[in-house]
Amino acid sequence: MKKNNNLLEVPNINSSDAQVKKLIYKIEDDLFNSHFKSSSKSDYLCVCSGGTTSSCARNGLITLDLRKEYNQIHLEEEKNLIRIGGGVIMKDLLNYLEKYNKTFPTGLSKLPGAGYILTGGISPMSRRYGLAIDNIDSIKGYLGNGTFISLEKNSLNSTQKLLWEGLKGAAPFLAIITEITLKIFQSHPIQIIEGFVDDNELSKIINLAEGFPDNLSLQWIYAEVIYIYIFAEIKNDSDNKITKKYLKKLEKFTSLKIKSYENYNQISFFPKELELFELNKNNHSEVISLLGGDLKDDIQTFVKCMKEIIKEKPNKSCYVASQQLGGKTKEFDHKSSFFIHRGSTWKPWIYAAWKKDDLKEKEIALKWLNESWKKLKIFFPKIHLAQIHNHLNFHEEEVYLSYGERLSELKTLKNICDPESILPPL
Ligand SMILES: Cc1cc2nc3c(=O)[nH]c(=O)nc-3n(C[C@H](O)[C@H](O)[C@H](O)COP(=O)(O)OP(=O)(O)OC[C@H]3O[C@@H](n4cnc5c(N)ncnc54)[C@H](O)[C@@H]3O)c2cc1C
Repeated sequence: MKKNNNLLEVPNINSSDAQVKKLIYKIEDDLFNSHFKSSSKSDYLCVCSGGTTSSCARNGLITLDLRKEYNQIHLEEEKNLIRIGGGVIMKDLLNYLEKYNKTFPTGLSKLPGAGYILTGGISPMSRRYGLAIDNIDSIKGYLGNGTFISLEKNSLNSTQKLLWEGLKGAAPFLAIITEITLKIFQSHPIQIIEGFVDDNELSKIINLAEGFPDNLSLQWIYAEVIYIYIFAEIKNDSDNKITKKYLKKLEKFTSLKIKSYENYNQISFFPKELELFELNKNNHSEVISLLGGDLKDDIQTFVKCMKEIIKEKPNKSCYVASQQLGGKTKEFDHKSSFFIHRGSTWKPWIYAAWKKDDLKEKEIALKWLNESWKKLKIFFPKIHLAQIHNHLNFHEEEVYLSYGERLSELKTLKNICDPESILPPL
């Protein structure tokens, strides 16, 4: 247990080392009236749900930790809905749902909290069930101006429509979300085909994945070595048949192994036992998430580019990984939310880490992140704003590449919902 009361215990090490001004756990009226009046733009409230990002706590800022007071989970089985608090982590959601043989498209880790859902939420199951935001049925919370909101997907009036869209993909800038109701799904068995591959095999597997049916998705990590996961949900005979067809095609990749799981909650992606990269508790890190469409004829050029990026990485902890979206996520209109890049097939993320007190190493790692981003931009020109980087010099570009043509609408919403910038600045 940490002795210092101004430290937040969270998975993100940058945030758990931050000397916060104060920790608060409940939303009281004075939060909106007193703390931030006449404060500067660099003084705002940090919100913590899963605590997996570097923005849930900052030196000298107040953090609202939602995990104690907003951690309720309530199943509405007859409606196929689950109501969760704004401080619930995905592990608790999945464990709860497993008891009822239900599931939800959570991401590759069970550590993230409501931030996963509110910033989009890309799951290995998204190609069939959509993004997490596509499955939100209602939202409760407080706008930055202190107004309590309660919105339901099927009873929005014309003035609420834009806010509803804004909360799906850009909520951290607009509101503190205390409750989300989500559509849930029947749980089904999963097959995972996983293993180490080389560059050439990765190219061939990406090529295969761009033709996958919706029950299959590919995720890979490129660190010291390359490791892949092909995820397959087996819901019915047709899934079984089509998966068998792909298993046949994958037989030539002799290092791949097939594993069967009773349900999604049983899977653990990229576990530390595989030693894919160094997980060092003395490191600080930043992550940037990119978005782009099918690679098609550029697959080999892309893999060559990845090889160069990995050759340049400054230490064993840095890596690039990717997940596949598409299918159902492409069916939604780009106007349905502020996750606007609906044509995307791939979400690679670049993870840069450094020894926490080593400023020189930090500069080198962030330079590598920036340069790798520049190289990958031709394949993946857009951004998934899953982490807020207003402390880094590329924040503005990231915001622009995330919200694009909807950025001016978002700025208008921000002015209405959070005029005094109590929440993180855009
Ligand atoms: C190991 C790992 C695996 C991941 N895998 C995936 C993946 O497969 N797919 C994917 O899409 N993303 C993935 N992510 C990214 C992750 O979903 C996002 O970074 C997400 O924003 C983290 O949310 P959090 O609640 O855990 O983080 P926090 O640090 O607590 O919050 C992140 C931001 O969201 C805001 N926020 C959080 N909760 C609320 C709330 N209730 N109301 C208002 N604002 C809020 C905060 O202001 C904060 O700035 C992964 C992250 C990690 C660390």
